[in-house]
Amino acid sequence: MSGRLHGRRAIVTGAGSGIGAAVAKRLAADGARVFTSDLQGEVDQVADVTADGASEALVGAAVDAMGGLDTLVPCAGISAFAPLEGHSDAYFRQVLEVNLVAVFRLVRDAAPLLKAAGNGRVVTIGSTTSSFGDEGLCAYSASKHAILGFTKSAAAELGPHGVTVNCVQPGAIDTPMTAPAFEQMPEYRTFWENKAPLRRLGRAGDIADVVAFLCSDDARFMSGHGLWVDGGAMVRH
Ligand code: NAP
Repeated sequence: MSGRLHGRRAIVTGAGSGIGAAVAKRLAADGARVFTSDLQGEVDQVADVTADGASEALVGAAVDAMGGLDTLVPCAGISAFAPLEGHSDAYFRQVLEVNLVAVFRLVRDAAPLLKAAGNGRVVTIGSTTSSFGDEGLCAYSASKHAILGFTKSAAAELGPHGVTVNCVQPGAIDTPMTAPAFEQMPEYRTFWENKAPLRRLGRAGDIADVVAFLCSDDARFMSGHGLWVDGGAMVRH
């Protein structure tokens, strides 16, 4: 344990699975207190981030548990491949609700605490599809482009209060989210393995380590960034 996040009090959503679980583990290993939330799993709070009042309830529960809040890492997200003409209104809205609107609400409702902390940190989770599009990903890619724009504007607005806001953009990461697609389309897995100069899929820990850095004092002068964490895959795009 490096202890570089000692004293930090963080919320991590989507912490029951994949990247969120790895982030919660890594922040705790670095000394942060972490309040975890997800739809299911071994977390401090079981909740749907899109429910009415969810963000106020989450911030309130985290503050009750930890005595304050200075760090947010909203990892809850959904994705599925669907052709444009197969995107129902409900599906498109649901993807935006989870991947974008719920993150906006959480950052908004935590903003007074982040500002008061003087060194608040927000790390949103975008995607390499925050920077390009792909077949079957109209809703997902729209939500991930939007979260990058949100990140930049929030960085501009919260920066004068000492809060940094950055967006980690993972490439193809081996998690329960991607497992069905990689199982059904092994050629998709091979495509991403070969596209990355590092010649492998990412692991949840590859993302968590970068998130922990951005939450630390080492990243104190970085804000408004989208960072590809993709084994170099985007250099070939
Ligand atoms: P994951 O293993 O499926 O984890 C996502 C978690 O979010 C799941 O536990 C999921 O619960 C939860 N969640 C979904 N809807 C929710 C809701 N309405 N309220 C609360 N929690 C909800 O996926 P992951 O790969 O770790 O993804 C984490 C983040 O990284 C997402 O934002 C994703 O878009 C992003 N990302 C992933 C990749 C990748 O290749 N894996 C690449 C780029 C970006 P259920 O499992 O019960 O639905």
